[in-house]
Amino acid sequence: MADCIFCSIISGDMKGDIVFENDTVVAFRDINPQAPVHILVVPRKHIATLNDLTPEDASIISETVLAAKKLAADEGVAEDGYRLVWNCNRGAGQTVFHIHLHLLGGRTFGWPPG
Ligand code: AMP
Repeated sequence: MADCIFCSIISGDMKGDIVFENDTVVAFRDINPQAPVHILVVPRKHIATLNDLTPEDASIISETVLAAKKLAADEGVAEDGYRLVWNCNRGAGQTVFHIHLHLLGGRTFGWPPG
């Protein structure tokens, strides 16, 4: 989609620090990391928010979580623990309106998230 920075990274028009990709998702390092490991797992399909998901997107969501799980192991944070975060809409802190799963690891996290 035009004017979507994550679509631009996925298409290669914009540079991203890509760490993994398959037919369904592209994963790249967050430009403003909030933890030693901070990777965004982004479906190739442009879906603006979680509110826009349909039952047909179920496999996309499962592939996204499975990619995050693999990356947590690859990055060496699986055993200590990691956090997966989806932000939905501005009130939850969503700033890029193309759904993405944050993989955060390499430090401890409090609850609730600050
Ligand atoms: P959210 O606030 O949940 O929408 O998350 C958007 C994330 O995208 C933020 O953590 C930003 O730091 C990150 N971000 C924005 N632009 C880029 C970019 N060009 N490359 C990598 N990460 C980005």
